[in-house]
Amino acid sequence: MALPKYAYFKGKIVPYSEAKVGVMTHALNYGTSVFGGVRAYWNEEDQQLYLFRPYDHYRRLLRSAKLLRMEFDYTPESLTEITKELLRAEGHRCDVYIRPLAYKADEIIGVKLHGLTDEITIFSLPFDRYVSNDTGAHVTISGWRRIDDNTIPARGKIGGAYVNSAFIKSDALLAGFDEALVLTNEGHISEGSAENIFIVRDGVLITPPVTENILEGITRRTVIQLAREELGIEVVERPIDRTEVYICDELFLTGTAAQITAVTKVDFYPVGTGEMGPITTQLRELFTKLVHGQLPKYRDWNVAVYD
Ligand code: PMP
Repeated sequence: MALPKYAYFKGKIVPYSEAKVGVMTHALNYGTSVFGGVRAYWNEEDQQLYLFRPYDHYRRLLRSAKLLRMEFDYTPESLTEITKELLRAEGHRCDVYIRPLAYKADEIIGVKLHGLTDEITIFSLPFDRYVSNDTGAHVTISGWRRIDDNTIPARGKIGGAYVNSAFIKSDALLAGFDEALVLTNEGHISEGSAENIFIVRDGVLITPPVTENILEGITRRTVIQLAREELGIEVVERPIDRTEVYICDELFLTGTAAQITAVTKVDFYPVGTGEMGPITTQLRELFTKLVHGQLPKYRDWNVAVYD
């Protein structure tokens, strides 16, 4: 992966090679960071790069930071402005992934959250697909369990918590699957290693509620709204049992990186007909238009980078 040219680091945009931390950094030793993942989409016709819902992403980042007792003067608006400046410095004219990371920057020994120095860094990279097989992914159900809200809250997008996702993802890939679904300790379907999950049963779209140890996904929220307002589909947030994913009609995963990834096989059960279904197809088409700034009703979600 090519490295970025620049990063936002300690309050300014610097060459990426200067954005370095020492090995004693608290976040590196104890996983005391929170992060985000934002996308910007290049629109060839408009000759414009559009950030997708950056204010919502930064609102979530600052809430995650609050959980780790971080204190910042940044606002979603100021972080979006910094991101625009960074993207302009890079001069991207393609789809881009932006990674904001808030971390405990002190170089000290001692496990705690309070009384430490907090920093935010941001970098960006050209980015295409995350799940290569996004119209026909084959997933398994992980043998790992999702971290619980009373252990490390999944809604916090906490650096250290992603070791759980890494266990889930590596085991799935090494076993030949594209992704894995993970169960809560109670045995309900929580989400994918880095995606929320939706199933379709008898024309109703179902997704676990935010109390099922999921990350409160921005793409999840977007899909719920698109399904209701644009497709007139009923959406229900309720716990999903394991065996529902074996018998559902359609299944897809959502995330900033994964976008809307159709899943056509779970373990060795075909999902529905074994092909991407009609609701998933329609949502993918709408989503592509939306993120490229082609749905006027939602233009507030597209933030132009270039003046
Ligand atoms: N769940 C997890 C565990 C994730 O890491 C992500 C990716 N950020 C998501 C869900 C999807 O969230 P979003 O749509 O906000 O990217």
